[in-house]
Amino acid sequence: MSTPTAPIGILGGTFDPVHFGHLRLAQEIGQALKLDEVRFIPSGTPPHRGSPQASAADRLAMVSLAIGDNPLFSVDDREIRRAGTDYTVDTLTELRRELGASRPICLLLGADAFLDLATWSRWHELFVLAHVVIAHRPGFAVDTWQARMPQPLAKEYSARLMQQPLAVHLAAAGGVAVAPIAALDISATLIRDGVGRGASPRYLLPDSVLDYIHSKGLYVQDINETR
Ligand code: ATP
Repeated sequence: MSTPTAPIGILGGTFDPVHFGHLRLAQEIGQALKLDEVRFIPSGTPPHRGSPQASAADRLAMVSLAIGDNPLFSVDDREIRRAGTDYTVDTLTELRRELGASRPICLLLGADAFLDLATWSRWHELFVLAHVVIAHRPGFAVDTWQARMPQPLAKEYSARLMQQPLAVHLAAAGGVAVAPIAALDISATLIRDGVGRGASPRYLLPDSVLDYIHSKGLYVQDINETR
């Protein structure tokens, strides 16, 4: 039985499409940090990038298929239901209100996303609302992080870094933890580009998601786009 105060993990993303990089991140950090749940939150209109290729409904459907019956995972469609741009700080504010002041919340981020954090809306507030847990990602070696972080982010990182990641259980928010996970050099971009070229992305993502992509004809380049 889980306790109501056990930490919850939040994994936001465009999931265009969801792949094994996301699933291993959620599974490994969920287990290593003894999280009660890892909640996938697909974004509707992401602020940091162009529009996703697949519709919000398709990306949500793919996440639901990918998580299947994994008891650790759940999906939350709040950002897709929300009108306008999705800011993580707004989502975390809502979650904090719903989960109460003392429940630890862990915002799970790949290293690429963390290094970009200082460009996010009201990013300092994220540390008031949640812990930030950074997952290793190929192409973003840990020993280069400090050099790649803008100074204000480097300052927060060193002040908040917890040597023991399980310390996320001891406070509701405010810490930074680093989680080494299996290095899977998979990205949604790689998958979209592959499908667009007619190459199979099999073994980069669950078969259920691949079947969905094929059945809906997702990521196949429109012949008119290439003219
Ligand atoms: P794209 O290629 O379209 O930019 P992506 O594969 O990076 O997409 P997102 O949906 O943008 O996927 O990522 C959601 C979160 O998952 C981010 O925090 C990202 O850093 C993390 N993530 C994605 N793929 C991996 C991976 N292979 N290893 C570790 N973290 C990952």
